[in-house]
Amino acid sequence: MTYAKKPAPGHLAMVPFVSVADMMDLVNTRGIETVLREIAAHIEADFKRWPEFDKTPRVAAHSPEGVIELMPTADAQNYGFKYVNGHPKNMKEGFQTVTAFGVLSSVANGYPILLSEMTVLTALRTAATSALVGRYLAPENAATMAIIGNGAQCEFQALAFKALVGIKAVRLFDIDRAASEKAARNLAGSGLDVVICDSGQEVVQGAEIITTCTADKQNATILTDNMVGAGVHINAIGGDCPGKTELHRDVLLRSDIFVEYPPQTWIEGEIQQLDKTHPLTELWQVMTGQAKGRTDARQITLFDSVGFAIEDFSALRYVHDCVQQGAAHVELDMLADPDDPRDLFGMVKRAEA
Ligand code: NAD
Repeated sequence: MTYAKKPAPGHLAMVPFVSVADMMDLVNTRGIETVLREIAAHIEADFKRWPEFDKTPRVAAHSPEGVIELMPTADAQNYGFKYVNGHPKNMKEGFQTVTAFGVLSSVANGYPILLSEMTVLTALRTAATSALVGRYLAPENAATMAIIGNGAQCEFQALAFKALVGIKAVRLFDIDRAASEKAARNLAGSGLDVVICDSGQEVVQGAEIITTCTADKQNATILTDNMVGAGVHINAIGGDCPGKTELHRDVLLRSDIFVEYPPQTWIEGEIQQLDKTHPLTELWQVMTGQAKGRTDARQITLFDSVGFAIEDFSALRYVHDCVQQGAAHVELDMLADPDDPRDLFGMVKRAEA
């Protein structure tokens, strides 16, 4: 007996689901540097049509231990959202600090067209965004990046800056040396020179780019003013919640600051520490040529990254493209879709029989 439209592969009511295993297959099949470049291209294309998107700061539920957030956005064709958490204490208990999944839907009828894991995808899109921004702001011919905080995001950041900016070396520092050793092992054979350092002071020596990606639910001081020389680009990704920052205020006062979406960054970014009148530059305007990126070799540029919904939308759009080209996924029967749209109850009743 048929009580609903037959769930056939590719059927409108079936939703492609990209699992963690499928995402790893996508990355390993295409090659991680290719995937990072392709996601960055999707992000850049979407940033260049910024006014077309509905935008809102993410909706956050804070607790003493962490935060759970929803990150929605839409253009005229698609709606997307990501569910994501941030729990710095998780790592010590054997859990990820950040986990996520997301949905892309058709604006035309509201049906989801993709459900995807987004823990790996968030690391990919965060790194792709950082490196894309690095292409606009890092000093010319930057070859060395320091990474402070060598947890889950670290290797993705290193490889994205290799693929998009062309760095040749990474210098690693983490308060837990085991994290740096893990990152160095994972980056062996990547073509990057990897050096593990014993302090924040040491790690920044000779680095034209400094990435901070530590996790701590407090106003930490990972970078002090004396650690930042002229001409450096700072890619600050770890400070992304109210009361959770990484840079000393003096570093901000010496930098030209670039942000994703000011209404969200004022709540969550390093600029929480500044007066609301402080000048900021929006990255989409740099990408469209309406605002300047790096203007001179001695300028300190700061990407105050918090992660914005459009980056997730772009990443989901990319994964959807890959699925349409045959990337691994399963079809989920997650939408009730009776033959007669008004006979939802009848569909349930016939299933009983
Ligand atoms: P993680 O817990 O896996 O790693 C964090 C690392 O930082 C750990 O190895 C820890 O030992 C180290 N650390 C903590 N305090 C330190 C200090 N004072 N000096 C040096 N190292 C220190 O976390 P993760 O998944 O790599 O994420 C890192 C941060 O990035 C988190 O705060 C997360 O919320 C943030 N994040 C931001 C974005 C974004 O778009 N901006 C995206 C993803 C994650």
